[in-house]
Amino acid sequence: MAKVLCVLYDDPVDGYPSSYARDGVPRIDHYPDGHSTPSPSALDFTPGELLGSVSGALGLRHFLETAGHELVVTSDKDGPGSVFERELPDAEVVISQPFWPAYLTAERIAKAPKLKLAITAGIGSDHVDLAAAIDHGITVAEVTYSNSVSVSEHVVMMILSLVRNYLPAHQWVLDGGWNIADCVARSYDLEAMDVGTVAAGRIGTAVLRRLKPFDVRLHYTDRHRLPEEVEAELDVTYHPDVQSLVRVCDVVTINAPLHPETENLFDDALIGRMKRGAYLVNTARGKICDRDAVVRALESGQLAGYAGDVWFPQPAPRDHPWRTMPHHGMTPHTSGTSLSAQARYAAGTREILECHFAGRPIRDEYLIVEGGRLAGTGKHSYSAK
Ligand code: NDP
Repeated sequence: MAKVLCVLYDDPVDGYPSSYARDGVPRIDHYPDGHSTPSPSALDFTPGELLGSVSGALGLRHFLETAGHELVVTSDKDGPGSVFERELPDAEVVISQPFWPAYLTAERIAKAPKLKLAITAGIGSDHVDLAAAIDHGITVAEVTYSNSVSVSEHVVMMILSLVRNYLPAHQWVLDGGWNIADCVARSYDLEAMDVGTVAAGRIGTAVLRRLKPFDVRLHYTDRHRLPEEVEAELDVTYHPDVQSLVRVCDVVTINAPLHPETENLFDDALIGRMKRGAYLVNTARGKICDRDAVVRALESGQLAGYAGDVWFPQPAPRDHPWRTMPHHGMTPHTSGTSLSAQARYAAGTREILECHFAGRPIRDEYLIVEGGRLAGTGKHSYSAK
């Protein structure tokens, strides 16, 4: 029987919820690309429950324990004395979420001789050293598409919040004020602005689709062009490189994976090429933006606002400058872990586990690494080094 080690974020400070704001979440059977949502043999949770925190245990406890497996769930993930490091040496399966990543470094993988499967409950496996997983024959899988639309909704929310100056206006209400001029002195309409996405994959395209009805001028750059009919439908302008995109955009949203080409992409030089007073929204990965360049640009007015939910490291330390820089709308890493998204990626995690224990193939679209090489989605989205 296997040991499954699951790293999840902490429960709410006032305890695991006993009731919810709504009685459920709408059911979705298919994603926009036609693939079906996860289809495990059964679910031991009600969609809409908090599953991503320690007590929620991704709804896996009954399923795993009745099958005789051991499930260890912890939020204690960093440092040599952590529960994660202590439990890792005899774990067969590790489950982690990008929001609270258990970094599976080469050193940690070397200390886990029984490890066969690393599941990302969500999307984005850059917290796993994929080259080490390849070398050790570990399968890496994630729940592709489970939270792409969730993230795109967060992006649209953040763009509107920044452009319309929503958060400071809300703060005036909390503070007992009615300071209309203070609220509107930085407030604009999004209509007729130029809005561009760096990458038009699942999330980037969903952002473009959602923004189209706002009567903005849409732009994108990507390594591959969208099909002609999609470009025509969205009336979106393609840019061969990010420099050309940022020059013309009032709002830029980053939806590319973190890899050597994108790490620190938004540095002083690139931000300096943006229009003065542009807005930048990054829900992809914190390291795509140079931390201090963002702060400098907000302080100088080169950027009118910055928002996102991704930081480095995570959790961000209390003194991380993005907590206190001006004109920001940061959240913790939450965009892909709404209760709606959790229901899908918890079901997908169970589907992957069922396949693993039954010796059945895991869906190709969920695979990142298998059999000592990049596989499935991983072949397209990641590089081994
Ligand atoms: P996809 O794989 O569907 O799309 C990524 C796109 O980025 C692809 O079209 C890819 O092109 C393109 N791309 C890669 N490198 C570059 C580059 N240097 N310049 C321009 N485009 C590039 O991924 P998703 O849309 O599902 O997710 C995007 C990222 O969002 C994830 O990698 C993850 O880091 C992040 N994410 C964040 C979440 C959150 O909660 N905040 C949740 C889920 C994801 P090509 O086709 O050539 O590879």
